[in-house]
Amino acid sequence: MFSIAIDGPAGAGKSSIARAVSKKLGIIYLDTGALYRALGYYFLEKKISIEDSLQVENIINDCDIKLLYNVAKGQQIFINGKRVDRFIRSNEVSMAASIISKNYVVRQHLLKIQKDFAKKSSVVMDGRDIGTVILPDANLKIFLTASLEVRAKRRFEQFLRNGYNIEFEEVLNDIKKRDLNDSKRKISPLKIADDAVVIDTSKLSLKESVEKVISLVKKIDLEEHC
Ligand code: C5P
Repeated sequence: MFSIAIDGPAGAGKSSIARAVSKKLGIIYLDTGALYRALGYYFLEKKISIEDSLQVENIINDCDIKLLYNVAKGQQIFINGKRVDRFIRSNEVSMAASIISKNYVVRQHLLKIQKDFAKKSSVVMDGRDIGTVILPDANLKIFLTASLEVRAKRRFEQFLRNGYNIEFEEVLNDIKKRDLNDSKRKISPLKIADDAVVIDTSKLSLKESVEKVISLVKKIDLEEHC
């Protein structure tokens, strides 16, 4: 079994790179941010105050979160039987995910799902605490980064492609807020694992970034077989 942990802030290129790497290696890709987003969406829909950690903790115990994986369809997330994947990409849901991800009970709830998933198959997982908490023994840890401007531009273009009507300034400000929330929180903050390789994707194309990761995988493969 082989595991690759990819962490980094929003817009660093994690999901595109992780998806492409997983395809090249023929292994599963798990987007862990989608789990936090799914819960964020659920709380918004139920009109639960996400800043009220007690309410969040009470409700989460009634949440049956199922993470399914299918080669053709990729990952699918269900909450209490409802598939939520197509509702979780808005800016509002991104912010909600970032706010609830500070909560210890929320993180514990999702930790088990992620760890169990990695026990069953080789995986490329992306998120904020994969190399530090979820897969501390990953075969390869990558920390992706890029300048704030580049990350905001990528996210903005992604929103436009997906039909969201949004201003660049709003995306930029939300990314700044999320960077702060994610790196300053007490539990499992976004940080570079001691043994991670840092890749700045600001000036790299997707193809170049993927090639860098694949060359690191090959290096590990060689080292393990020497
Ligand atoms: O990666 P994505 O932007 O979809 O993640 C949404 C939010 O979920 C992040 O801003 C972060 O607060 C939270 N998250 C986390 N730990 C992870 C993945 C995501 O705290 N492993």
